[in-house]
Amino acid sequence: MIKMSEMNELQTLRHTASHVMAQAVKRLFPEVKLAIGPAIDTGFYYDFDSEHKFTPDDLEDIEKEMKKIAKENLKIERFELPREEALELMKDEPYKCELIRDLPEDAVISFYKQGEFTDLCAGPHVNYTSKIKAYKLLSATGAYWRGNEKNKMLQRIYGTAFLTKPELEEHLNQLEEAKKRDHNKLGRELELFTTSDLIGQGLPILLPKGARVIQLLQRFVEDEEQKRGWQLTKTPLMAKSDLYKLSGHWGHYKEGMFILGDEEKDDEVFALRPMTCPFQYQAYLNRGRS
Ligand SMILES: [Zn+2]
Repeated sequence: MIKMSEMNELQTLRHTASHVMAQAVKRLFPEVKLAIGPAIDTGFYYDFDSEHKFTPDDLEDIEKEMKKIAKENLKIERFELPREEALELMKDEPYKCELIRDLPEDAVISFYKQGEFTDLCAGPHVNYTSKIKAYKLLSATGAYWRGNEKNKMLQRIYGTAFLTKPELEEHLNQLEEAKKRDHNKLGRELELFTTSDLIGQGLPILLPKGARVIQLLQRFVEDEEQKRGWQLTKTPLMAKSDLYKLSGHWGHYKEGMFILGDEEKDDEVFALRPMTCPFQYQAYLNRGRS
């Protein structure tokens, strides 16, 4: 069990690790613009606006620079600024300016400074960069600014950090083990399934072995259900709009339903069933019940 105080300590450390990483990135790629860099459950990340796509080699270089920054043992200091001065300080960082402008009028605008690097940040942080000892950069992926696909695609670097080196080693080990058990990798190797770009990568084609596994599981579940007194019905995959009007689906969820036909032109319009309950109710009505 991790104690709450340890959890906060870890979060603080990870957040500082994200700042140290951003400082390292700025040293190696000065043209990069900073977005945000929070601590997360498994470590931390930082989003950068960068024309250059970070490679695994870059991650190694950034890690090395982080090591230097830790060695420099820079003091991490907090300060506050009024809005206008905050915008002036961050004038070369458009994403930070956007964040500052979005803050409520009466918000305290705080910064954290370590050596030549200053970041808009609510904190808290550890007090010296030398506290960042057990960390590892894990991957770089694309991420939209503010998670919105209409915004610019940024480069996100994920990393993790721990209070001690053995804890980091254990976590990295677990990640390795999880990779070996990745169903997407194993399923293909065992020829359980494959995918095709023409169909869609999220839509697996079950090969004979995979289909057999599903078949056996399905039989097991059906037998088990029968043993436990559940009764099976089979209802159509679609129905007239009349059913969904009665159930309320039409009024509430029409926009999200797959409709066959055109309400304006056709006498009857059908829709694929979004759920089975209205159909089960019709099965129930099959005979009079007390
Ligand atoms: Zn921060």
